[in-house]
Amino acid sequence: MAKYTGADCRLCRREGCKLFLKGERCLSSKCPIEKKAAVPGVHGQARKKATEYSLQLREKQKVKRSYGLLEKQFKKYYDMASTMKGIVGENMLSLLERRLDNVVYRMGIGSSRAESRQIVNHGHITVNGKSVNIPSYLVKAGDVIAIKENSQEIEAFKALKDLKVVLPKWVEFDSKALVGKVVALPQRDDIDLNIKEHLIIELYSK
Ligand code: SF4
Repeated sequence: MAKYTGADCRLCRREGCKLFLKGERCLSSKCPIEKKAAVPGVHGQARKKATEYSLQLREKQKVKRSYGLLEKQFKKYYDMASTMKGIVGENMLSLLERRLDNVVYRMGIGSSRAESRQIVNHGHITVNGKSVNIPSYLVKAGDVIAIKENSQEIEAFKALKDLKVVLPKWVEFDSKALVGKVVALPQRDDIDLNIKEHLIIELYSK
């Protein structure tokens, strides 16, 4: 499947909710969802009544798009979650949150997951002192995430010293030292997305 290269806001409009794909714009009044933009497409205003399948599909698309993943990549997390102890849906969300690009986003280093992925791809991040440029790298509790020493002079990273973000309780980030820590694995109530993950599990279990 090809990478989606269309407008990010269109994806939010399709799902009818904020997926937070464009950094600061998502928190501003410029966000089309704030303006109650219509579902895209000529038939956007006249969608058919939702079926059980369409509800499951939309929930899956919402999560997949929030994390910026393709179908094959996303399904891998479901497969992994199915082999773990506990509730499959919660396991799946925890795995998605543990992706290094998401952790960089949660720490406020990148303003969106897409930007955070680029930061990781470009080799600006270390995990436990070693350079890691794989966005899907899964962090563990106790991992120390930092901005590489020779990247710290980049203006965008210097500006993080004035950073004011509300961190989820499973991560810490010292914006002066540009070092953070995964203090615990993310639990379901740490994940602030409005998701009904059981619908995704029902879809994949068919
Ligand atoms: Fe666009 Fe962000 Fe609003 Fe989504 S949440 S519609 S990406 S501005």
